[in-house]
Amino acid sequence: MNDKLLFGTGGTPHSSKSESTADGIERIAELELGCMEVEFVYGTNMNQAMARKVGDIAKTLKVKLTAHAPYYINLNAHEEEKLIASKKRLIQTARIASTMGAQGIVFHPAFYLKDPPDEVYTKVRKELEDTVSAIRSEGIQVTLRAETTGKGSQFGSLEEVLRLSAEIDGVAPCIDFAHLHAREGKSNSYKEFASILQQIADKLGRNALNDMHIHLSGIKYSGKGELSHLNLSESDMNYIELFKAWKEFDIKGLVICESPSLEGDTLIMQKAYNSL
Ligand SMILES: [Zn+2]
Repeated sequence: MNDKLLFGTGGTPHSSKSESTADGIERIAELELGCMEVEFVYGTNMNQAMARKVGDIAKTLKVKLTAHAPYYINLNAHEEEKLIASKKRLIQTARIASTMGAQGIVFHPAFYLKDPPDEVYTKVRKELEDTVSAIRSEGIQVTLRAETTGKGSQFGSLEEVLRLSAEIDGVAPCIDFAHLHAREGKSNSYKEFASILQQIADKLGRNALNDMHIHLSGIKYSGKGELSHLNLSESDMNYIELFKAWKEFDIKGLVICESPSLEGDTLIMQKAYNSL
């Protein structure tokens, strides 16, 4: 649990000594940022010894860590082997994240594959319950953060993510405000931002607002949703209004910036938020 809102990068900052996670954490501390998400989006390729080292550095420098699980996860996969592989990727990410002392792991739950959304929900919920049980049976306590996704073809609307979080112990939301905006071109005003936060409080309780995991960047989108991430200044993301809503609801937790400029936009966000 965090007593305020911390800002950090999705992955190692560009201005780090090297691309390594350890150097990334050092750079986060130098920049006086608060957290970093370790990106395992193309595979969880860190071993336990390195995870221990990374965890020690983060602890010493007081940088909070989270992890992002691989993109290749589909809890609605039709083939059994793809489903098993998806769950294995989540479990392996949880093991490494736990050793690093990370608070949670973010993942994109599934694709609809043209199946009816209510059937997909039921399947994802069952597979996720199984996965959480497997993780807990190893004594691992990290939170699984289901992310709101940026395309209509991807499972992960706000409603779906909040419902999974309400119904499965150990699952909580990762609210990607850029994705929510890109999904339908809406969700980009104070009123809509406040409505999102109110839905979180209504469905998960006030405690969820004290333990937020947020993704934010500028975003390019079409009628089909997300196209690519942009820097804030090149996008229409109304982040000042978003921050006003965050202040109004007094939210706490971690904000991970996924703009191409990484630490550039993270510093802009942190400064803008703190000056309100
Ligand atoms: Zn993501």
